Parts: sequence; C-alpha cells; structure tokens
Amino acid sequence: MNLKSSLLFFLIICNINFSQQKMNLDILQGIKNPVLVGDTIKLEQNTYHAFIKMEEAAKKDGINLKIVSAHRGYERQKFIWNRKFKKFTEEYSLEPIKAIYEIIKYSTIPGTSRHHWGTEIDIIDEDFSDEENVLMSSKYEKKGIFYEVKQWMNSNSEKFGFYITYNNDPERKGFEHEPWHYSYAPVSKKMLALFLKSDLKKLIKKDEINGSEHFTEEFIEKYKNENILDINPNLK
Ligand SMILES: [Zn+2]
Repeated sequence: MNLKSSLLFFLIICNINFSQQKMNLDILQGIKNPVLVGDTIKLEQNTYHAFIKMEEAAKKDGINLKIVSAHRGYERQKFIWNRKFKKFTEEYSLEPIKAIYEIIKYSTIPGTSRHHWGTEIDIIDEDFSDEENVLMSSKYEKKGIFYEVKQWMNSNSEKFGFYITYNNDPERKGFEHEPWHYSYAPVSKKMLALFLKSDLKKLIKKDEINGSEHFTEEFIEKYKNENILDINPNLK
C-alpha cells in the first residue's frame, strides 16, 4: 500500500469509528433503536433471550411474569416528561423546579432513560394484568398482589442476569425504590459505561423539554451523580 492509499484507508477507518460512536450514542439516548426483539414489548436481543429463560423457569414454579414496560424511545419519554411537567405546574400549581424534582422521583429526563437501552423491564404478575396502576410499591409488599412475583424475583432473577436497578437501600439517592424495575446486567453495564463517556449537558436537548431552562450545571451534575449513578452497585 502506498502512502496515499494508507492515508485513505486510515481516514475510512476513523470515519467508521466515528459513525459507530455516534450511532451508539443515538441508541443510548433512545433516538435510534438497538436491535430489538419481541412483538409488542421490545427488548435488546440478549436481554430478550435471557428474559425468555427466566420466564420459563418462573412458569415451572407457578409464577407468570409479565413485562409492562421494556424498550422506550426518546419521543415516548419526551411525551411522558412534558405531560408530567404540565400536570405538576398547571394542575398542582408547583413552581417549575419543584415540579422537576417531583418528576425525577420516578421519571427520567428524555435521552437519559435506561429504558432507551432495551435492557430494562418493569415486571408484574400476569394473573393480575387487568389491575389499574400496577406500578405501585405497596403492591409488591406483603399482602400486595405482586408479592409472590417479587419473592420469586428476589430469589431467582440474578441467576438470569436481572438485577433490581433502584433498590431499597435507604442510603441510596436519586430515583425512588422501584420494586418492579430490573436491568439485564451483562448488557446494561456496558451501556452505562458508554453513556458515562457522553457529555450530559450536550446530550439533553433543552429546547424540546419543558422546564429545561432550570437545568443548571449544578442540577445536571446532581442528576448524574444521584439519578444515573446511585443505583444498585451490581449494575456498575
Ligand atoms: Zn422501569
């Protein structure tokens, strides 16, 4: 190879690398979808296959797992965020910053949701799938309708790679305890590592997100340290 063609080859490789990184970032932000598998509920492919194995094992023990939320794209998260912001500021007359702190107890800023990655699942008991407002902590506690599912997940989910993301450690900051939300560690750990390489300040598309004028540098730093990083240590 002469100098000219080596240089050309080098530039092509750089370009592929750059597009690859850009694509990975788009996937992490929910703008582009990872390779997804599933019919109505979609998951990243390795997560999907691990879930199927776990679902079969649960069935043998008489437990019917049901996913109510899996992959969620950027637009969907934006809709959730903006709807909550409107509700909290208009219906409940909260100051914008108070509304934001209320939203980030359970919901993420669009572009930063782990549900964008296709590795996260929100689990209920299929036998009670007609129930309204399923994702409530009390339903997973003793006497709650999802207690049995929760007990089964406590004893078995980690064998299949699924870890509770926002655990009940009282010292943990960030999102509230979500007894229904599990993450497929073998893939999501890699996704998190990649995500942390990005600049959150640039990544958050302020012009599309209600209340984003209140996302100061300190706010974003705190959000990163608490909401993104203060998770189950097994997922880091
Ligand atoms: Zn979730």
